[in-house]
Amino acid sequence: MSAELLLEEMLIKRSQQKKRTSPLNYKERLFVLTKSRLTYYDGRAEKKFRRGSIELSRIRCAEIVKNGGGIIPCQNKYPFQVVYDTNILYVFAPSHDSRSLWVQAIKEVSRKPLPPIPGEERKNERRRPPPPLPQAAEDDDDDGDDDDDDDEEEEEEEEEVVVALYDFPGTEPHDLSLVKGGEYVILEKCDVNWYRARNMYGEEGYIPSNYITEKKSGNLVQFVWYNQKVNRNKAEELLRKEDKEGAFIVRDSSTPGTYTVSLYTKSASGEGSAAIKHYHIKETQGSPAQFYLAEKHLFSSIPDLIEYHKHNAAGLVARLRYPAGKQDEAAPTTAGFSYEKWEINPNELTFMKELGSGQFGLVRLGKWRAQHKVAIKAIREGAMYEEDFIEEAKVMMKLSHPKLVQLYGVCSHQKPIYIVTEFMEHGCLLNYLRQQRGSFSLGSLLSMCLDVSEGMEHLEANGFIHRDLAARNCLVNDSLVVKVSDFGMARYVLDDQYTSSSGAKFPVKWSPPEVFNFCKYSSKSDVWSYGVLMWEVFTEGRMPFEQNQNHEVVTLVTKGHRLYRPKMATPAIFDIMHLCWSERPEERPSFSQLCLMISDALEGDAPPPN
Ligand code: ADP
Repeated sequence: MSAELLLEEMLIKRSQQKKRTSPLNYKERLFVLTKSRLTYYDGRAEKKFRRGSIELSRIRCAEIVKNGGGIIPCQNKYPFQVVYDTNILYVFAPSHDSRSLWVQAIKEVSRKPLPPIPGEERKNERRRPPPPLPQAAEDDDDDGDDDDDDDEEEEEEEEEVVVALYDFPGTEPHDLSLVKGGEYVILEKCDVNWYRARNMYGEEGYIPSNYITEKKSGNLVQFVWYNQKVNRNKAEELLRKEDKEGAFIVRDSSTPGTYTVSLYTKSASGEGSAAIKHYHIKETQGSPAQFYLAEKHLFSSIPDLIEYHKHNAAGLVARLRYPAGKQDEAAPTTAGFSYEKWEINPNELTFMKELGSGQFGLVRLGKWRAQHKVAIKAIREGAMYEEDFIEEAKVMMKLSHPKLVQLYGVCSHQKPIYIVTEFMEHGCLLNYLRQQRGSFSLGSLLSMCLDVSEGMEHLEANGFIHRDLAARNCLVNDSLVVKVSDFGMARYVLDDQYTSSSGAKFPVKWSPPEVFNFCKYSSKSDVWSYGVLMWEVFTEGRMPFEQNQNHEVVTLVTKGHRLYRPKMATPAIFDIMHLCWSERPEERPSFSQLCLMISDALEGDAPPPN
């Protein structure tokens, strides 16, 4: 086989749904292209199971799929399709280059006089492809596949069972309510945010995809003690707040794929002083690997290990008595109140206090259906290209992430139109920084920057440009999480002073040269603004280039001048800002790189592990 091997890579395959009832899903598969066939496997190269295989002579074409700006429901963002017989195989590549390589290679190896499209009259006399190569030569792993079917593409029809992480009451008749801990079968992944599911009583409906997790061994998310995204700083904050003997969480370590138990004890030195210990969960080398915290006690899984140490300290400073954090964790926002629901009935809104006012008009706190707190922005007449925005709102609602202020919907059949979003108790980040000046630790400032970089990473991954990232456009909630707001909204502002780069309201001080010179926006221009936002955070809300007017900033920045290092920023943190202000956009880091840099800085800020 290796002599024939042309390409091999992990790609994502969309289920083909040959049966109407089969679930729409996206699975990672190892794709292998040889001179005779395109095969995909479950698992990695070392241990793989063949799931399907297509003889090249059956392939009629391979081509890039234009996405048209829609949101792609898996982490690979570059779709292509392989048309064979009368079927289409949809595959998602991780990068532009990888996709080109696959499409080109499949085109080349399957190039031949095209077989006629199998029409109705010819269905029974399908031309036999050339005789298959001896099986041993093309499929040398012992994957236990039935070799008779090597001409057939197999379809995976297994049911996907999930567990609810939160209650979801369901707001529309077509929704299915979720009960925390309950099990559900996924019927269809309608988009990234909403799935159709069935409960144990056979009832079906839509559920939010961020409220569930796959039920399978090895998935820790289903356990109350697991807090995936909590870093060392946050873990300590959480455990101190809980202040209970034996309070613990299991979290991701800074080394990907490994885990740490953070444990709180009130009597570390026997004098009643509290301490937090961090224990790395270690793995043995053998296969299958075993897990341990203390050398003598080995377990075949992490849940088994936790269960044991709940009852036995066995070398730890206390036993794991009390899983902290997740119990009373509020349910996350959903992408809109229900599937495909963007129009909100204004009669279902009640208005409370005023929150502030901005470019578009007045923002008020309100409630939807008397229980969900929301922020309602009433758009001032003549302030916005309303029709364009209402169209775009459908796309924006699908941008759902814990670090983005969620758009819930619009009231567009009235004047003024309303924009309804997630309510953020502490208001805008800039005011928050100014009001609390002097009270922030280095860790808390970094944590704010990390929140913003994570929200921005999600926008970047979806090809969405913010265009006006700044502390004034981020908001802070009651858990002090910072979220990015107003993304993409600059495009709908009807005000020359704001939109023209020479206008008084244009955010010149947050803009890179390619934006103030040529209005050339990109995720990399957002990265420049992000550097300025970091600067705002580390000066606790100062105005960048305080002494300069906009036109002076243009001259200064063009000459290579940059903002100074804030006192609270270490040289390493200032280096990150400087990278964001590289003159050439391609030399600036991406947001996913920034997330890693800021996480590293946060870990570095924490005391060394015990
Ligand atoms: P605009 O987009 O019209 O410029 P902003 O989004 O800047 O308006 O909102 C104006 C002010 O209203 C903000 O500075 C903030 O204090 C408050 N505000 C806006 N949205 C929210 C929200 N979702 N939660 C809480 N306060 C908000």
